[in-house]
Amino acid sequence: MDIRRRPPKSPHNNTNNIPPSASPKASDALPLPLYLTNGIFFTLFFSVAYFLLHRWRDKIRNSIPLHVLTLSELAAIISLIASFIYLLGFFGIDFVQSFISKSESEDEQEQSSFITCSPVVLPKSVAMMDLPKDDEELVNRVVSGEIPSYSLESKLGDCFKAAKIRREAVQRIMGTSIEGLPLEGFDYDSILGQCCEMPVGYVQIPVGIAGPLLLNGIEYSVPMATTEGCLVASTNRGCKAIYVSGGATCVLLKDGMTRAPVVRFSTAKRAAELKFFLEDPLNFDALSVIFNKSSRFARLQGIKCAIAGKNLYIRFSCSTGDAMGMNMVSKGVQNVLDFLQTDFPDMDVIGISGNFCSDKKPAAVNWIEGRGKSVVCEAIITGDVVTKVLKTTVNSLVELNMLKNLTGSAIAGALGGFNAHAANIVSAIFIATGQDPAQNIESSHCITMMEAVNDGQNLHVSVTMPSIEVGTVGGGTQLASQSACLNLLGVKGANKESPGSNSRLLATIVAGSVLAGELSLMSAISAGQLVKSHMKYNRSSRDITKIGS
Ligand code: ADP
Repeated sequence: MDIRRRPPKSPHNNTNNIPPSASPKASDALPLPLYLTNGIFFTLFFSVAYFLLHRWRDKIRNSIPLHVLTLSELAAIISLIASFIYLLGFFGIDFVQSFISKSESEDEQEQSSFITCSPVVLPKSVAMMDLPKDDEELVNRVVSGEIPSYSLESKLGDCFKAAKIRREAVQRIMGTSIEGLPLEGFDYDSILGQCCEMPVGYVQIPVGIAGPLLLNGIEYSVPMATTEGCLVASTNRGCKAIYVSGGATCVLLKDGMTRAPVVRFSTAKRAAELKFFLEDPLNFDALSVIFNKSSRFARLQGIKCAIAGKNLYIRFSCSTGDAMGMNMVSKGVQNVLDFLQTDFPDMDVIGISGNFCSDKKPAAVNWIEGRGKSVVCEAIITGDVVTKVLKTTVNSLVELNMLKNLTGSAIAGALGGFNAHAANIVSAIFIATGQDPAQNIESSHCITMMEAVNDGQNLHVSVTMPSIEVGTVGGGTQLASQSACLNLLGVKGANKESPGSNSRLLATIVAGSVLAGELSLMSAISAGQLVKSHMKYNRSSRDITKIGS
């Protein structure tokens, strides 16, 4: 499933002070920020009320009939009524909305607790009422199916204990041990209802540091979570080559997350009518207003349609601030679909995702149009550094790149895979920084170019990556370890001054690291060192047969 579940509104999950997701409110339609509008109407209401009372007191004193009004009194009365209506509407709508959202969130919670564990942790006293105190008895009841495993968190009101009981039950049911999988030392509250259901422990992945990566004049230490020997060492060598050559430069070309629902009509003609309507620049503003209500950060950028018979695929693209943005864009799309239903009542929404998005699948649409952040990163590596650090020559690197990354990939029918191992670096940084690892598929699309410059003395190397999908808020980014890695890069959480800057910077760091990784691996291959170094770093001197037993 490619839509992440929305963080529940429970205080247990708001661990990194992310404000609750902004559901569309009537106040979103105001041209000014809410606090300013409220301030203006409050001031207006009280000042005209004071003015009118003052005037009427004078009239009573001077025995002037109250209904004889001057122009200023008339204006004051109109202002009083207008501000009164606004204030009544504001508080009234909020009051009603609080009821609606309460019942909606209760519905959502009920559904999710049915599917997996409930994100609502009941108070211990209530939850434990009809449960045995003894762990052993609890495990037995889970094994017998009397207590559903998914309900342990909500029933016990204690996430750690729930994981412990479930773990024991799983071992007994399967008759195998998961002893090596650690249980202690992890905050199970932090994943509840957001990152992982029915936990029994956590997998440890070592994090290595490559760097300093000198990118756009700033040094970064890049955290990489991997179990592949050589990877960090090799990326580190690439970083060194870039550093001593004066650093790399990265430019962000585009930033837009996409979602493409599929809708069906009874004729292709009707599908085409909707396509023309959606792609008409005259309708863009109206559609943006509807779409942008999904979040303070979602801003519609464009709509592209593709038709297959009477089915229409509508690819919405929007900026999403510092969030990777799948939830945000999906909510915006839902708003537009609801709106379109009025003018196109014969439109049958088949699915909010129709795969023209395209999420977590290799697809030409991402490679050509981009998805998430599109970046290009380059460096000029001096011939001296190519020889001394990378142990090869400019010419052999250029030749290898042409025959491997370009021609070889073309022969293989590659889709976005015109590189040596971009996915290696992307995945390792994604895991370390709490990105969605499945999005490594399109995020690793990359074409690596190498060219001899300065009369063949130096090497110009670049990576172009059209669909890096990263965020610094939401999903796994808020967990302690992942958030520490983001902090190391200086991109933790939301950027308050310039929303979106953190996630965009992270995308450039990913591309810079890929550049380093490409340089180093290509050099190892061209120097014929690949097998030798893998035998050194991937095969420890420990006796593998002993480890196996
Ligand atoms: P995604 O859309 O990537 O799935 P989530 O919806 O899980 O992300 O998380 C994004 C949440 O973070 C939203 O509720 C959004 O309002 C909030 N948020 C706070 N600051 C920012 C920011 N600078 N950029 C984007 N989202 C932000």
